[in-house]
Amino acid sequence: MNELSCKVLIIGGGPGGYVCAIKAGQLGLDAILVEAERIGGTCLNVGCIPSKALIHAAETFHGQTDEAALAAMGIAAAAPRLDYAKTVAWKDGIVSRLTTGVGGLLKKAGVRSLRGRAALVDGKTAVVAADTGQSRIRCEHLVIATGSEPATLPALSFGGDVISSTEALALRAPPRTLAVIGAGYIGLELGMAFAKLGVEVTVVEALGRVLPLYDAELTAPVARRLGDLGVKLYLNARAEGFAQGELRLTRGDGAELKLKADKVLVAVGRRPRTQGLESLDLAMSGPFLRIDERCATSMRNVWAIGDVTGEPMLAHRASAQGEMVAEIICGKKRAFDHVAIPAVTFTDPEVVSVGLSPEAARAKGEIRVAMFPFRASGRALTLQRDDGFVRVVARADNHVVLGVQAVGAGVSELSAAFALALEMGARLEDVAATIHAHPTLSEAFNEAAHAGLGHALHI
Ligand code: FAD
Repeated sequence: MNELSCKVLIIGGGPGGYVCAIKAGQLGLDAILVEAERIGGTCLNVGCIPSKALIHAAETFHGQTDEAALAAMGIAAAAPRLDYAKTVAWKDGIVSRLTTGVGGLLKKAGVRSLRGRAALVDGKTAVVAADTGQSRIRCEHLVIATGSEPATLPALSFGGDVISSTEALALRAPPRTLAVIGAGYIGLELGMAFAKLGVEVTVVEALGRVLPLYDAELTAPVARRLGDLGVKLYLNARAEGFAQGELRLTRGDGAELKLKADKVLVAVGRRPRTQGLESLDLAMSGPFLRIDERCATSMRNVWAIGDVTGEPMLAHRASAQGEMVAEIICGKKRAFDHVAIPAVTFTDPEVVSVGLSPEAARAKGEIRVAMFPFRASGRALTLQRDDGFVRVVARADNHVVLGVQAVGAGVSELSAAFALALEMGARLEDVAATIHAHPTLSEAFNEAAHAGLGHALHI
């Protein structure tokens, strides 16, 4: 057994763990990163990046088939052909470029990386079964960044044609028919992408609305687009089982239904990876590791970051926590006290939510809510996408912006401006007084702020 020691041992090389390791290295801390599978974790290998690559390829393909939209611009295109093996190779190339890059950054920061599964002996010791043999690693600080994995449904366990997002992103050919269980962001992002590639897609959702974490006004344009793409939607319906290519459903009214599906994508959420951590007997918060505002667990010098610590399970939250924990270990005074963590859904149209929704803000006091629709945006018209809007939520008394939501093609790129406004404590007057470049979708943010002050210019 190899005996190793370090100041900081990080378990898990996803966006939480690898960012923590790079930061620790940059701060001069002696760090070891252990990753059981592939550096980059869920996000780079089977999550954010490959899904966005597939979404972009699907959008590009579908754009060539939208004859009406092309004809309006005077374009007649030949029917496009899809070589899906090349699409997958292109997507895999992006993943490999990014993961190789992260490997290089770790090296540059002086981090020792070990490939293997870590089993924790106690809060200062882990045993890693690596290809090169077993290692025992002793550390002063332990950072748990083991992430999450797809949640299962008892009636639809993974295997065969019942797949998770991981297998959906690795298919060698698109199925003819696909049933997606769960109309959350992962199910809808992938379902819409496959629909654009010509797959017959059905979405089954137990609740009464798609993207149920957002409000109805925000998700209505996505529901409309699902219809335009020919996606069949069963709301208030439960998937009961799958056999011989048939998915059994029970609808809200009790009616039973059978649907043909070549593949069933179960996208009903993700659960934390806490296996192997039992020996530490850490305090839990439901299924997640309980942490405080410094990401400290219930054990001294044992820290936890990312999906294993709960919602929102997002890559940028994991990374921000990872960076902070490295700084705390280095002796800096830090706390995770961000005003907002932006959430983006890369559906068509995209959805952004930063800070408080109107409902959540109203529960805290008097508010103003104002929106600007993209149908009044010159830039949206030039992009042939005038569906959606930007909505601003502000305090009624002093106009401090509490939340910003948007739905529309390409609005993911507006999330940074929204988050910055919230972090800087901007008021409606600040956003309205900021000159936004013309013609851009971002003008809708400025216009919504004007509307909130009672004097929108372009509506
Ligand atoms: P992970 O990325 O899950 O990494 C944990 C790592 O720990 C894994 O590599 C695992 O192999 C390793 N590990 C676990 N146990 C051990 C052990 N005992 N020993 C050694 N290694 C171990 N988020 C966004 O912000 N934007 C998006 O657009 C987005 N899209 C997504 C799309 C899909 C299809 C999916 C599935 C997820 C998406 N996410 C997105 C979520 C995002 O991927 C996660 O929030 C993020 O990866 C969490 O990072 P993490 O570091 O906490 O964990």
